[in-house]
Formats: sequence, structure tokens, C-alpha cells
Amino acid sequence: MDMFEALGVHKYINAHDTYTVYGGSRMTEKTLAAMNSIAAHFVDFAELEAAAGRRIAQLTRNEDAYVTNGAAGAIQLAAAVCMCRGDDYRYMRLPNGEDLCRDFVVMRCQHNAYDKAIEGAGGRIVEIGDADETLPCELEGALKKGAAGVFYFASSLYARGSMPLEAVIEWAHRFDTPVIVDAAAQLPPRENLWRFTEMGADMVIFSGGKTLCGPQDSGLILGRERWISQCRRFGAPAHGVCRSCKTSREAVAGLVAAVEQYLALDPEREYDRLLRLDRWMEEILCRDDRCRCRIVPYGPVGQSYPRLFLDLGEGLTASALEAGMRNKYIYIGREGEETLYISPLNLTEEEADTVARTLYQLIMEG
Ligand SMILES: *Cc1c(COP(=O)(O)O)cnc(C)c1O
Repeated sequence: MDMFEALGVHKYINAHDTYTVYGGSRMTEKTLAAMNSIAAHFVDFAELEAAAGRRIAQLTRNEDAYVTNGAAGAIQLAAAVCMCRGDDYRYMRLPNGEDLCRDFVVMRCQHNAYDKAIEGAGGRIVEIGDADETLPCELEGALKKGAAGVFYFASSLYARGSMPLEAVIEWAHRFDTPVIVDAAAQLPPRENLWRFTEMGADMVIFSGGKTLCGPQDSGLILGRERWISQCRRFGAPAHGVCRSCKTSREAVAGLVAAVEQYLALDPEREYDRLLRLDRWMEEILCRDDRCRCRIVPYGPVGQSYPRLFLDLGEGLTASALEAGMRNKYIYIGREGEETLYISPLNLTEEEADTVARTLYQLIMEG
């Protein structure tokens, strides 16, 4: 009996996106081999972290890098490092310490489900701006009062009300306050691995288990040596509030391999490969003339990869089709009741074919 049968767990095809609830993304054989290879041996964890950091920093054109257990763990550690500023006694008191500066500036339009990790470290969120606009005077005022750091969530979803990152960095640095960019899902384009740090951000966070196709329990902090060295010092296996950000040597080795492979890909060829998957599915789905297919050249938070959208015609409901697909163990995306979408990111050619044929079948039945 294989493990799926033994546990009674189903295998799904993930045509929705790199969501954690479905397992994120898929690691390559090469990444799994790197994880297997280190699993057979013991290493000095600190030596491994330092070496992995040097390698990833060099590949991503950054001063330094640190591997955590995910982007959420990275947010927590970055916040802790900003609050303790190199002081062991301050660190050991987190998440408490009434006399510490624990305020983090977050734009209200960027406030999201992941910024709880700031509070996880003992930080307090100070919101500025509103849904539509953030004024520089609000940022200046919050910085003047004293802030441990500014968190910036890079996503097309928040573009409308956000101050530009360049301006945020300029203001924050006037007050010697670090800026942390959460760019967890902001790949591709690959240039984001160095673009934000080149703009002056102090720490930039990526999820290892999303489009980087690394281990689900890996995350990356890129940035200035001044701050990353503190991540190495206070991050797990050190004791304290960020012990819960511990990852494994397998995840560290896997993420190094994943970053190497990600940067070795030719971005245009990769885009074309995904576009071909979309077109293959489009051809099958558009046989029903009630549906209109369109290719949208960006991901759900503004990344540069092509997804296939399907605008449904008369008599078809998106939620019913989504549920029907789920019954067939396939995850797809939905926008309202008239639109379905498919991300090719996690699909093999064979799976793309299965997804399109299964959906076409359901559309014909419905
Ligand atoms: C997914 C995501 C995270 C969390 O990433 P994990 O690697 O799963 O911890 C944090 N911030 C943003 C904006 C994300 O999209």
C-alpha cells in the first residue's frame, strides 16, 4: 500500500496557484536530491547557514542572506532584529519589554493577513494612511515618534494607496529606521531578488515554497550585512522569540538548490513554456462557444507569468464548476460567479491536458 492509501489522503492537481493550503509549489528532482544528500549527514548548522547565505547572496546580487522557515518566519525574525538592535538583553525580553521601541509602521492599504508575524515577535503595528492614499507627512510623523522599522508589502493589490518604496526608504533612512520589504510571492520577475535592495531596502523577504519552488518550510531574507548578521545571531537555533522560526538543514540545502536553478532558467523561455500550457488548455476549453478564453499576463499579486482566464456564458456558474473540479481533485481559481482562471505554474503538460479536458467535460454537462 502506498502512503496515500495508508493515510487516506488524496492527490490533487494544483491549477490554482502556489497556495500553501494545497502544498505551495513543486520541487525539482535536483532540489530533492540536494535535500536527500544533506539528510544523510550531520553539519554544523551555523556553518551551513553562513555558507548558504553567502551563496544565495552572491547569486542574488545582495550583500548577505539568511534562510528561515518561511516568509512569515522571516517577518517575525526581521521585526525582532529591528527591535533589539544587536542587544542580547533586549532580544531575550521579546516579545515583551515595555521600555523597548516596538512600533512598526505599516500603511493601512497594505495591512494584510501576514503582518501578524510582526506582533508574533512582540512588535506593535502603527498604521498610517487610508485605503486610497498615504501622505508623506503621516510617515514622517510616525518616524518622528520613534519606530523600530517600516514594513512595506510589495504587491500590485496595494499599489493604489501606497507611497512609492523609494520615498518610504528615503524618509525612513533620514531617521535611521530600517525598511523591510515583504516580497514573499513577488517572483517572477527574477530582478525583484535584487531590485528592492538596490533601491535601498534593508531586508527583503521571499517565500521559498512559492514560485522559487524551494521547500515549503523555507524562506529568505536578503539584504544588508548589518542586518542579516543579526538574523544569524538571533535566529534559530538560538533561543528566544524566534526559535519558532527554525528550519531544517534539508530546507536550507533545498533552498540553495532552488535559487540556483531559478536563476539558471531563461526567463523568456520559461514564460513561453507557461504560455504554451495556457494555449493548449485554451484550445480545448474554447470548443464551447459559451465561454471566452483570455490570457492575462500576470499572477494574482502582479507577478509576470501568464494565466488562462475563462469568462463563462449563459447557464454556467463559476462556483459550481470550481466545486465540480474539486470533486475531481483539481484546484482551479475563481473570480466572482462568471470567471474561472487557471495558473500553469504547477502543471506538467499531462496535468494541463487533464485540467482542460475535465473542465470542458463539466462545462458540457452543466
Ligand atoms: C505567502 C506570503 C507570506 C507567507 O509565506 P510563507 O513562506 O508561507 O511563510 C508572507 N507574506 C506574503 C505577502 C505572502 O504572500
